[in-house]
Amino acid sequence: MAWREFSYYLLYYFPELPHKVLRKQFNHFPWIQDKTALYKWQKGLTGYPLVDAGMRQLWHTGWMHNRVRMVTASFLVKNLLIPWQEGATWFWNTLVDADLANNSVSWQWVTGCGVDAAPYFRIFNPVMQGKKFDSQGKYVRHWIPELSLLPDQYIHNPWEAPAGVLESAGVRLGDTYPFPLVDHTSSPSGTRNF
Ligand SMILES: Cc1cc2nc3c(=O)[nH]c(=O)nc-3n(C[C@H](O)[C@H](O)[C@H](O)COP(=O)(O)OP(=O)(O)OC[C@H]3O[C@@H](n4cnc5c(N)ncnc54)[C@H](O)[C@@H]3O)c2cc1C
Repeated sequence: MAWREFSYYLLYYFPELPHKVLRKQFNHFPWIQDKTALYKWQKGLTGYPLVDAGMRQLWHTGWMHNRVRMVTASFLVKNLLIPWQEGATWFWNTLVDADLANNSVSWQWVTGCGVDAAPYFRIFNPVMQGKKFDSQGKYVRHWIPELSLLPDQYIHNPWEAPAGVLESAGVRLGDTYPFPLVDHTSSPSGTRNF
């Protein structure tokens, strides 16, 4: 509730924040306009199971837990380098609890262009986050049934599974489930994974 009040305070004093960055140096950030990647993120087809599970849950139910909102948002702006306004618009159109203050402030927070402490070099690692918060893969298996037979060890990183493991789980990467859209491990130097 404190975060909600803080967001409302910010929107009141900075009414432009649903559209404009609060840290002006981000006006010159080289965002990438990639409609295909944006579409794959929206539909849960990025190849990162935690991101895809979240985006499919959002599409089907209109809700996502805060943890998954942070992970999916970070993936859009920090891995795909797609402008945060695109993500905020998608959340605005799909969340049943869509709220102009909370949504805008949270997207600027994840991006690192807002007023509070989420620096641009903090990047959520979708594999580490999955192993930490969905260690048995129950959440991923529910929303991505095509991965449900994978062992826990590979449920958040199917591209690292040996061919035999994929085959016995009925997973054909690039066919039944996508290869990773980008390589998370190639994040720019100076960034930190969480
Ligand atoms: C990228 C992103 C976009 C978001 N978009 C929205 C949005 O459109 N609408 C929205 O209400 N929240 C949004 N949030 C904030 C947060 O995810 C939700 O408020 C939270 O998931 C609500 O969970 P809950 O109903 O279980 O509330 P609880 O966790 O029980 O908290 C009670 C109330 O506190 C407020 N609250 C809790 N956490 C947050 C938070 N991190 N930021 C702001 N308020 C919070 C909410 O009003 C919530 O109803 C967003 C977060 C992120 C990372």
